[in-house]
Amino acid sequence: MYTHRFFCSLLLALVALLAVSTSAHAQKRATKRATAKIDSAQWRREHYIVNRDSAYANPYVALRKLMGGNRRFVENKSIKPRQSREVMLSTEKGQKPFATIVGCSDSRVPNEIIFDQGVGDLFIVRTAGQVMAEASYGSIEFASLALGSKLIVVLGHQKCGAVDAAVKRPEVPGHIISLVNAIKPAADKARTMGGDVLENAIRQNVIDQVNELRDLEPVLAREYKKGRILIVGAVYDLHTGRVEFVPETLRNLPEYNPAGDASTKQK
Ligand SMILES: [Zn+2]
Repeated sequence: MYTHRFFCSLLLALVALLAVSTSAHAQKRATKRATAKIDSAQWRREHYIVNRDSAYANPYVALRKLMGGNRRFVENKSIKPRQSREVMLSTEKGQKPFATIVGCSDSRVPNEIIFDQGVGDLFIVRTAGQVMAEASYGSIEFASLALGSKLIVVLGHQKCGAVDAAVKRPEVPGHIISLVNAIKPAADKARTMGGDVLENAIRQNVIDQVNELRDLEPVLAREYKKGRILIVGAVYDLHTGRVEFVPETLRNLPEYNPAGDASTKQK
């Protein structure tokens, strides 16, 4: 009886030891693999380090380029591209930003850093809560028509003060009320959702703003319907550094159609 119990305990201890050593081994192997991969062809593929011209030419490539850059940032492996004096001088002649970011003014969301991009890569429109009005619309249209930027990303972020104000509705001085009023509809929807109201309002605000731009006549609505530009939304996590592209804004996207033939897409 005692012998049987002894063997059972011994067996359990051995199994536990094996499990610990296997997982430690696997971890070691994974670390080794991750270290070995940096800057290898495979690592560059996984982190989507592509020629910026292909990202400029195709918004779907541009989107993957932003995702790859954010992955590098999250993994603390930013390559900080295109930040040299030479690049600055080469962009003096003109700009070809491969993406337009419509983001919040919040100082904790520095776009080029979190997407690991460089000079001349991103055309950025920033207001608190990424609230948009005429000047923002004009800037985004300019980036699309005059500069040829084909990807627009509406970028919200966690713990956004402007969205928080729209949720809590404090008395605010001056023009700040215009921000609160613009985000109110998203905050109202968020209240009916259950869960964290601020988190929901931040996501809903991004979704509403993406739809606002997709429907914005006369330029963006036309370009989007014709498949010449892509408009999506994302939320930045201040804690992890991760940019999560909002699934609701990635569904039923138009096929990229550089010629802009609307016959197959327009209803
Ligand atoms: Zn904000």
